[in-house]
Amino acid sequence: MRFLGTAAAVTASVVLALSGCTDKKETASPAAKKPEITVYSERVEHLIKPLFDLYTKETGVNIRFITDGAGPLIARLENEGEATPADMLITVDAGNLWHAAQKGLLRSIDSPILEANIPNHLQASNNQWFGLSARARTIVYSTERVKPEELSTYEDLADPKWKGRLCLRTSKKVYNQSLVATMINTLGEEQTEKVIRGWVDNLATDPYSNDTLALEAVIAGQCDLAIVNTYYFGRMQKENPSIPLAVFWPNQADRGVHVNISGAGITKHAKHPEEAQKLLEWLSQEEAQYMFAEANEEYPVNPKVKPSPLVQAWGEFYGDLVNVEATGYLQADAVKLMDRAGYR
Ligand code: FE
Repeated sequence: MRFLGTAAAVTASVVLALSGCTDKKETASPAAKKPEITVYSERVEHLIKPLFDLYTKETGVNIRFITDGAGPLIARLENEGEATPADMLITVDAGNLWHAAQKGLLRSIDSPILEANIPNHLQASNNQWFGLSARARTIVYSTERVKPEELSTYEDLADPKWKGRLCLRTSKKVYNQSLVATMINTLGEEQTEKVIRGWVDNLATDPYSNDTLALEAVIAGQCDLAIVNTYYFGRMQKENPSIPLAVFWPNQADRGVHVNISGAGITKHAKHPEEAQKLLEWLSQEEAQYMFAEANEEYPVNPKVKPSPLVQAWGEFYGDLVNVEATGYLQADAVKLMDRAGYR
């Protein structure tokens, strides 16, 4: 993208000029050395490095990064405080970004580019973090033992007709906490708890530690359907296109399919906030959006960009329009509710 390459180059010299005025390290070489951006990322290396390499190629700006879980990265930012080298935090799940923002680790960003490229419900209302890919958590079923006509909503999976046929991932995983948080948002606590109790009653096995194991259990015939993020199915389907599983999009009228994000914010104590903002803006534009989503068979957040052909083949769906920050402020309620309902 020529425009963004140019914009980044211009900003680099602006940043240098500013730091020359305000930074004590004024004696630094006047040569136009571009700053390095440092990123703490929960998103794993093979999903982000190709993008960072492309960005460096286009702009000359180097990106250093470390990868770890959201918990350790957020703790690290807290411990480092003002001394942190991190300019940007990337996590999976809005609940994690919401926590980082709650702890005062991120800063608000005023960017017409991000506002234009990222729908409002997939970014923080205080502009402290922005979704970069959307991930749908939905029903995946056995094409050998379930007909799509039998399926309708997440709530319907509480019906006794699914007794002994449902597989779930553990309630300890933030993905399920986020799903239940958005159900609380629409259905209220009482109704949501009834549904979760119904799911627990219908479980074929103890909850699994990850989505892939739940899908493998469906293939192995231990259960007939599971609630998973679609990219886990996508990974399996990529390796084995004839896998006997299919995606179903719940069609409840009052709430769309549960959509979460993988996203990023700029740290409160960023040393290169303007450069980091340029990177974030670049990640929201069309070329990077396709790469970011396609690498993990997710959905671009930028509505101008279509997902990969493999993902497109699963058909279109209506995503929940509730702001994903509900996954943060209702998370504690969701955890308590799942505990009460016996969902382990
Ligand atoms: Fe995941």
